This record gives sequence, structure tokens and C-alpha cells, in this order.
Amino acid sequence: MAGRNRVSIYRPEQSEAVERHREIAVAAGIKLAIEEGRLRLFAQRIVACSGSTQDRYEILVRMVDREGAIIPPSVFIPAAERYDLIGAIDRWVIRETLSVVGRAGRLDPQTHIHLNLSAASIGDVSFATYAIEALEVSGVVPEILVFEITETALVSNMAVAAHTVGRLREIGCQIALDDFGAGLSSFNYLRQFPVDMVKIDGSFVHNMTVNAVDRYIVNSIHQIAQELGAQTVAEVVEDQATFQLVSSLGITFAQGYAIHRPEPLDAVMSDHKVCAEA
Ligand code: C2E
Ligand code: CA
Ligand code: CA
Repeated sequence: MAGRNRVSIYRPEQSEAVERHREIAVAAGIKLAIEEGRLRLFAQRIVACSGSTQDRYEILVRMVDREGAIIPPSVFIPAAERYDLIGAIDRWVIRETLSVVGRAGRLDPQTHIHLNLSAASIGDVSFATYAIEALEVSGVVPEILVFEITETALVSNMAVAAHTVGRLREIGCQIALDDFGAGLSSFNYLRQFPVDMVKIDGSFVHNMTVNAVDRYIVNSIHQIAQELGAQTVAEVVEDQATFQLVSSLGITFAQGYAIHRPEPLDAVMSDHKVCAEA
């Protein structure tokens, strides 16, 4: 991986191999976790910056180890991607989310559920069919789903990605471009795909009250998205001042610890039901 024409000294404790071995161990752990039912769904609320009171939640997966400790996705998703397990995780997340949402029943039609899609899923020709079947089984209407995709997911297989995105939009699901602006060619994807929503990468948002350049970038992404008829979400809103600022720029939605910290989906759904019935 480091390139040719070089000599390297192997030091067991600092080598790349240690990192790879760790990933192999994590990957083996993921397989077991799937088999033993140790994946968990968390959800984080996304709120409208003004007006509308519609509820939105992004589903975030977690793994629980055998001792019951929660392992965040930053630890296991890279290994899952490398060892071809992320597709299975995405499918589990969709099926399980739809089953929880389906069981909750009387959801407000304004509620939206955001699901993250990996490059492997978006580039899998059978993925859209899987999602459509899972929707049918659950009885949940496709209009409540928003699939979040990143540009790295799009770049790996553009033709299949276009097909997957097209089919999901056809049945009424929405598409959000996630981590927008973080990659080199985010804007390029806006030319190739119709998207419903742009999620402005948190790295531009979290310091924008003190950093003018970040503020200009957030504002320009919002302006372009608006011209294209896409709604915008500011991610990683960590304090009230940032929420005020993104609201004053006209950004549609905000998400971040200042609004809600991710919590188990079950808890969110039972609160939600109480609200809906109140
Ligand atoms: P993401 O899609 O960008 O998700 C947002 C991440 O930012 C979440 O981390 C969330 O907990 C975190 N976050 C939200 N608000 C704040 C804030 O105010 N401050 C800070 N510092 N962080 C905030 P999480 O849950 O650890 O997920 C990390 C990434 O793992 C996600 O990034 C997503 O790319 C991936 N991921 C999570 N669940 C799934 C899944 O079901 N499928 C796939 N393919 N990827 C997933
Ligand atoms: Ca996301
Ligand atoms: Ca994101």
C-alpha cells in the first residue's frame, strides 16, 4: 500500500499489520454481533429551524459487546466496509427500523426517518428491491424514508448508484446528500443526481459562530441547494448560538447535541407515541 521501490523495517508493535489485525478481529466480532442479535438502533432528532413541527429522526446503528458495552460506528464501520459486512448491517438496520416503526402504528404522516446507506448498498443492484420488499412487509409508507448517501458511496459505482437512487425516488423515498462539502467533488454530484436534501458537513457548522470562512461556506452550500430546490440540514449544531445562526441563514433543519443526543429508537418511539396521542 505504501508503494514500490522502498525497503521497510517491520516493527510488530507499530506496523500497519497491527491495525489490519485489529480490523480482522473487529470484523469477526461484527459477524458474531449480527448472529447474536447485538446490533442496536439509536435515533437522533432533526428539527425544523422555523415553523413546521414535523418530526424527523436519523437512525444510527450501535454494536453491543458481550459485556454489554456500546461500541460506536466509528469503531466497527471501517472494518465492516473493508470486510464486506456493511451491506448486511444496512439491511438489518432497514428491516429492523421498519419493523419498529411499523409496530408503532399511528405515526404522524409528517414524520420522516433518515437511514444511512453505505457505498456497498448503493452499489448493490439488488438493494432497491430489498428495500421495497422490506417496506411492503412492514406496511410503512415509502414517503417517510430519507436515504442519506455520501459522495464516496456515489463515486464507487456511478451507474448502479444512479439506478438505486432512481428506484428509491420512484417509489416515493427521498435522497439526502450526507457530509456535503467534506469531499472534493460534492458539487459535481448535485449536477448528476436529483436530491431532495443536502446535509451540510458538521466540520463547517460546528465553529461557524466564530469562523467567518465556515459561515460563508455554509451559506453558499445552502444557497446552491435552495436554487436546486433541495432542503438543507446543518449537522453538528452543538449550541444555541449556532442554532440561531443557521436559522437566520434560512437553513431548513438542524441536527446536533444542542437539539438532541442520539438515544435508543425504542425510547424515542414510545415518547413519540405519547406525543401523538396527547
Ligand atoms: P453521520 O451519518 O454523519 O452521522 C452523524 C454522526 O454525528 C453520528 O455519529 C452522531 O451521533 C454524530 N453527531 C450528531 N450530533 C453531533 C454533535 O452535535 N456533535 C458531535 N460531535 N457529533 C454529533 P455516530 O452515530 O457515531 O455515527 C458515525 C457515522 O457512522 C455516521 O455518520 C454514519 O456515516 C455511520 N453510520 C451510523 N449508522 C449507520 C448505518 O446504519 N449504516 C451505515 N451505512 N452507516 C452508519
Ligand atoms: Ca448520516
Ligand atoms: Ca453526516
